[in-house]
Amino acid sequence: MGYIELNVLNNQSNLAMGIDLGTTNSLAAVWKDGRPVIVHPEGEAASVPSVIHFPGEDKAPIVGRKGRDLAAASPERTLFSIKRLMGRQAAELGSELAMIPFPVKDGEDGVLRIQVDGKSFTPQELSALILNKVHDHGCRALEEEKPDRVVITVPAYFDDAQRQATRDSARLAGLDVLRIVNEPTAACLAYGLDQNKTGNIAVFDLGGGTFDISVLSIDDGVFKVLSTAGDTHLGGDDFDRVLVNLIVEGLKGQLSEEELSDPGFLTGARLAAERCKCALSSDPEAELHMVLASRGVTFHKTITRDELDELISPLIEKTIDCCRRALSDAGLKPEEVDEVVLVGGSTRVIAVRAAAENFFKRIPHTELNPDEVVALGAAVQAHILTGGSRDMLLLDVIPLSLGLETVGGAISKLVERNSTIPCSVTEGFTTYADNQTGIDFHIVQGEREMVSDCRSLAKFQLKGIPPMPAGMARVAVRFHVDADGVLTVSAREESTGVSTLVEVEPMSGLSDEEVERMLIASIENAAEDFETRRNADLNTEIGTMLTATERSLESVRAALDKETLDDIEAAISASRAATSSESPSGLQAVRDELERATLPLAALLMNNVAKSALSGKRLDEV
Ligand code: ADP
Ligand code: MG
Repeated sequence: MGYIELNVLNNQSNLAMGIDLGTTNSLAAVWKDGRPVIVHPEGEAASVPSVIHFPGEDKAPIVGRKGRDLAAASPERTLFSIKRLMGRQAAELGSELAMIPFPVKDGEDGVLRIQVDGKSFTPQELSALILNKVHDHGCRALEEEKPDRVVITVPAYFDDAQRQATRDSARLAGLDVLRIVNEPTAACLAYGLDQNKTGNIAVFDLGGGTFDISVLSIDDGVFKVLSTAGDTHLGGDDFDRVLVNLIVEGLKGQLSEEELSDPGFLTGARLAAERCKCALSSDPEAELHMVLASRGVTFHKTITRDELDELISPLIEKTIDCCRRALSDAGLKPEEVDEVVLVGGSTRVIAVRAAAENFFKRIPHTELNPDEVVALGAAVQAHILTGGSRDMLLLDVIPLSLGLETVGGAISKLVERNSTIPCSVTEGFTTYADNQTGIDFHIVQGEREMVSDCRSLAKFQLKGIPPMPAGMARVAVRFHVDADGVLTVSAREESTGVSTLVEVEPMSGLSDEEVERMLIASIENAAEDFETRRNADLNTEIGTMLTATERSLESVRAALDKETLDDIEAAISASRAATSSESPSGLQAVRDELERATLPLAALLMNNVAKSALSGKRLDEV
């Protein structure tokens, strides 16, 4: 009797890992407990610098943070920015070649070779070392599972050769690539923007040495790249360089030209500059501090955020020029972009955020760590590709609707109950009274129609709206619920750009029973709630109509005959007399009567507008 070999259920982990293989830093993330999380060993930084140091004497290369720390001592043995070389040939690199501080040339097979430590490596082999390191970094944080299947992200502009080179490096690292995903698409997935039905999204990615702006459109959860632009030599390194220049200038009297251009000295200065720059993203001032023990020389200067902003403003302006180009290539105006996502460590710089917000006239997404977004999105994609789905998980939906109080105590629901998270919704609001310079927002939770029956979550104010007639201000309010269920509400007035933002935890302090009770109450009171709601809406509408009627009556009173005038005034006083105690049908009648009586007034106004157009007068002169 022979034996038949059975394919035993392979014990391959069902988990797959998302990897952001960056020019400066790389990160790993997996799907865990219903959401993507960055994975790294406890007590260690999340990111792995994409740096490889060759210690020589046939010792194994040192990858990541330790490798980067050794760069100051022996820069000629330390490789970085390998990603720039992936899938490229020497001839294509052009001026880039001059900026690479290590010897690079084409091999006989047409693949680049990088010379270091007396050996030569392909970019694929070097990238494989980084992939191995970041995969291991992530796995050390996972208990038993060692996911070999990965999703790796690449810039949207990567061509076939560059994508293939990325696949090859994963194969060399012993990893199984489920998919190569565009970085901007991953960022959108991390924010749950795939759940929007349609819209345009701009992903602004400012990393260490590169800037990429990608304009995507989304249609039924499918992303399409409309355009990309950017600068392959613009990023946080350039911000560091302006501070390095300050150090070099400041030490000119104490160190020789030669000492000041020594690679070891410059690496030390770069680290000092980066520390100072990062501190300025959270503090208004920071110390630029460097000690050169070997020479007994110290540099010290306090830098304010304003000073740094001034120094880097031409660089920031360059990113905005690229945004302009990308939008024009996509055939879109800034106001046609529905969502802006900030990606890359350098978007932590406040002046960068402000510039992006100003250009797109929209508060960008910054709720997730900008340097982690891409890896998180890769983990979402990995989860979906391994058969997972977002909405299968209970944790992933919002149990109670979230909305804002509108005039008259009614609610405008922005995020409906059972929406999957993360998610974001933007809606436009306007002012109710003339010359209103501020708006009070009241965030509420619940299924009932009136604020008094819902749970109040938070109140906040948007100030600094310029005085203008009622209904003219354009205020965009965005609700974003992240994977942890934390709600961020932001409001922005479009003409001035004034904005404000609050964060709340909608589910804190609510038990399951209370949620259930609120749901039952909404069903039981549905009919009555509907009526109260209709009343409130009608009252608001009548109020708005009254304001408009009275304003226009002033300007054309003389042109109306007595009968029409009496008719309008009767309707006005009837509307005034009607109070909220009136039934919806009574209010509806009052509203309709006001509309009917003011028809001649509307016709007269239209006529005046038409006449003034013919006589070449401007509308506001009528
Ligand atoms: P890449 O995508 O190029 O691999 P990252 O997105 O990790 O790079 O961005 C790295 C850059 O972000 C570096 O220049 C780093 O100095 C910068 N950076 C990180 N944190 C901050 C911060 N808090 N403030 C300003 N810049 C920061
Ligand atoms: Mg990046």
